[in-house]
This record gives sequence, C-alpha cells and structure tokens, in this order.
Amino acid sequence: MIKTNTIEDSVTQIKMSKSVRGVPLMWVSAYLVDDLLVDTGCDYTKKELEESMRPRKLNTIVNTHHHEDHISGNQLLQSTREVTILAHSLAVPLLKLRPRLYQYQELTWGYPDPSEAYPMANRIETENHEFRVVYVPGHSLDHIALVEPKEGWVFVGDLYITVKPVAARLDEDQWHIISSLKKIREFSPRILFTAVGDPVTDASNALDRSISVREELGRRILKLSEDGLSSAQIMNEVFGEEAMFERIGIRSSYKEFTQQQYSTENLVETFIHEQCYFSTSFPQMKVPSNLSGNEI
Ligand SMILES: [Zn+2]
Repeated sequence: MIKTNTIEDSVTQIKMSKSVRGVPLMWVSAYLVDDLLVDTGCDYTKKELEESMRPRKLNTIVNTHHHEDHISGNQLLQSTREVTILAHSLAVPLLKLRPRLYQYQELTWGYPDPSEAYPMANRIETENHEFRVVYVPGHSLDHIALVEPKEGWVFVGDLYITVKPVAARLDEDQWHIISSLKKIREFSPRILFTAVGDPVTDASNALDRSISVREELGRRILKLSEDGLSSAQIMNEVFGEEAMFERIGIRSSYKEFTQQQYSTENLVETFIHEQCYFSTSFPQMKVPSNLSGNEI
C-alpha cells in the first residue's frame, strides 16, 4: 500500500508498506521534491510507486544508501522513465548485485532488482532547490544525506530514526552515527525527512537531544566494557531486556524476529567495536576502512 502526503507545499512524502490482510507491515518513505525522488522503497510496493509517479515529473533518483527498503523501485522506474539514479560511490556496485537477505527482510521488503546508478557529486540542483550532498556513514558505510540549507530541510534516510536507539544491526557503527548527526546539526535544520516515521519538525532540538543521549549511552557502555562485562551483560545492565515490538498480531523481540540481525545486544556491540566495514547483505564485498577517503 502507498500513501502520499504534501509537506511544506513542495515536498511529497510517499509512504510505502507491504500489507498483510490490509494491515501495513512496516512503512518506509520516499520523498519527491520538484523532479527529484529520494529513495524508492521496497520490492512489494514498486508497481504502486511507479503508478503514483506516472503523472509527476521525474528526472533524478537519489538513493540514501543501498538497503533493500530504499532502492527496490529503482529498476522499474529506470526501465519505464528517463531517469538517472545517483548514490554514494560505495553503493553503486552494490545496486547491481542481488543481496543476501535475512528471512524477515525477504518477508518485509523483498529482493531488489539490479539497477544502474552513478556516483553523486557533492551538490545537486532541481528547478527550485539546491541540495548539499553530505556523507553520513554509521547506519551503513555508503549513507548520504541531502541538505537544503535555505529551507532547513535534511533528507536523512535511516541516519536518524528516533532520539534514543533501542536496537541496531552489527554492520552499524554508533560513533560514526554520532559524528554524522553532528555534521547534519551544523546546518541548523528545521525538518528531518526520515525514511521511517513522520518527518521531525523540531529537527535541531531533536538532533541535540539524540547526540547527547547517544554519547551518554556510549560512555556508559564503554565503561562497563572496560570493567569486563560482556555485551549481553551490558545489555541487561543498561536496557534490562531486548527491545520488543508488536505488529500485525505478532509480539516479539526484534532479536528473535530478525534472526539476531537487529537487536539491543548488537546495539551495545556497535558502541564497543567498529563494525561498519562490511554489509550483512554483501559479506563478499570488501569496502575501504579509511572513512575519510569516502567523502563525497
Ligand atoms: Zn537502512
């Protein structure tokens, strides 16, 4: 299913989700500004996305990162429209390949068809807006954000989901996420256009709180690690239990539902160890460990 929503008169939020018996499983958003589409959702909604784009102008797609819930409308739009797809240079080769997905990813988002993308420059213009392309690793190594400084907009992809994280994948790096949030904060944004959930309208305040909460959490976790506690023990001490969710009648820990890919214990791990030099979807890919070399 798909829902569209206009924000600030000129940004169209396109919310997409696979539905199970009419109930949405997990919303993910793409955004359209002028003829620029940021992300393309999952495989299960690609036809609805393509239909909803038919009456609209579309020239460029930017993928914030290579995860399957952000890129899976690429191929269909590329084969039906004159459109150029742009992404970070690390994402470009991954978009051509079939990822290895966990069962829950297959169930929720499905496999993307391969698509042809090109590396981004550090700026991109549309008819009415000029965007800065900012490299924001942490959630993934190939993550970028689009900043529209005049409007105070940031299209953040999955860099920001909530003020305080409750779970993570092992291929994330929390300290890089904090640095990336600080990079975005420097623009004093008004609105974060997030891929998950609704846009955040007190953006700078939310970023300040999130940076401070994450730094405090990280310091506490590192101290407990230095004291000799294991990640599981730290998880118990700091969070009490694995984060839970309830959806379409299922109540489970994220850890159990995601075959341990996404969990609170992994969140602890990603504060302690640098993990972000591989992707669980592409374990065969070697990516450079020198982050500064990956700036746009
Ligand atoms: Zn992601």
